[in-house]
Amino acid sequence: MNVSDSGIVGTILTDNGFQLVNDTSEADVVLLNTCSIRDNAEKKVKNRIQELNTIKKKRGLIIGILGCMAERLKEDLITNYGVDVVCGVDSYRKIAEAINNSIDSSIALTVLNSQETYEGITPLQINTDAVTAFVSIMRGCENFCSYCVVPYTRGRERSHSVKSIITQCEDLFSKGYREITLLGQNVNSYRFNDGERTTDFADLIKQVAEINPLLRVRFATSHPKDISDRLIDVIASYNNICKAVHLPLQSGSSDVLKRMNRKYTREEYLEKIKRIKATIPDCSISTDIIVGFCGETPEDFEQTLEVMRIVEYDYAFMFAYSQRPDTLAAKKYADDISLQEKNRRLTQLINLQRDLSMASNRRDIGKVYEVMVEEQSKRSADKLFGRNSQNKVVIFDVGDFKKGDYAKVKILDCTSATLFGKTL
Ligand code: SF4
Repeated sequence: MNVSDSGIVGTILTDNGFQLVNDTSEADVVLLNTCSIRDNAEKKVKNRIQELNTIKKKRGLIIGILGCMAERLKEDLITNYGVDVVCGVDSYRKIAEAINNSIDSSIALTVLNSQETYEGITPLQINTDAVTAFVSIMRGCENFCSYCVVPYTRGRERSHSVKSIITQCEDLFSKGYREITLLGQNVNSYRFNDGERTTDFADLIKQVAEINPLLRVRFATSHPKDISDRLIDVIASYNNICKAVHLPLQSGSSDVLKRMNRKYTREEYLEKIKRIKATIPDCSISTDIIVGFCGETPEDFEQTLEVMRIVEYDYAFMFAYSQRPDTLAAKKYADDISLQEKNRRLTQLINLQRDLSMASNRRDIGKVYEVMVEEQSKRSADKLFGRNSQNKVVIFDVGDFKKGDYAKVKILDCTSATLFGKTL
């Protein structure tokens, strides 16, 4: 989401006479777009602010904080961290004015606005060299998972208009982009009513896929309670909708899921997985998992490992629970698993996932995939880097291809993270 928001800020600033530069040493203004989802993410930003303050003392610099940390910490960033501009997620239209006025005194704009979708602003694509792009289709979230700050920092859920999304995707395709990821905190609850009809996510992704068969479409993130049978059918029926579903599990224990306020049980989650696998047999499935959530017993943790083994995830993002201030969990439950135990469980999880990813990649040896060329491999000048529809990284020999082309690649070897092949 932050990539897309940075693009919105980029457009607003360039429209107001600002210029993008490639290096901090050339900048008069540095804006950090931040995330508050984990304590570690905030610590990194605070360290970066310290570094920027050192530069500021030497030659003058305007430091701005955007995104979730701006909403969460507000004026505290000015008072205690020497920040000049604090601009929350719904205030970006005023960012240029805020920067100009901050020369006189620091400014914090953090009022949430449930109507703001930045309609009419096409996000600047910061990496113009790429063939993959992100398009935000909605803002905010109202699920209130008990561990999560997003509903407080990003406000109420609202969907962008179908017209603005399609126009943006068409424009990206015409500029040479060949893969678009539709983004939202929970894309499955996308709904837009234009006065005549309501478009849901299944309708929307179909329309994006129909722009051109050469345009690949991905999406993130799905909420297990909302992913619909109709969406699964649509993914199966369009070649250019990628066969990769990211379905965050968070925990394999229904008791923990209840405390997390995830609104599905382990059994309901596994039913959705069964439906996906039956309808899209070549679909890769990835997930997010939190270990050591409040009250997670060894039995709860074992249930998470068990779900991982049943689903055989292709890859997973795994984290130790980090309590965030003001969330429901912080108010209601004790953060009672020691850091040592959280880390022990996390290591066990990572080891299991490495084995599952390795097994999944080994099953791909001998198969032929259509791989979209993204760039030259960073490790070797005579290899190309791309991804297959399943979102797996494929490294293969340089042929007569350019970025955005599709190559047929036979998989010959793998590690747990990468497939290696040769073009046919
Ligand atoms: S769905 Fe839950 S975890 Fe995801 S952004 Fe919304 S509240 Fe946070």
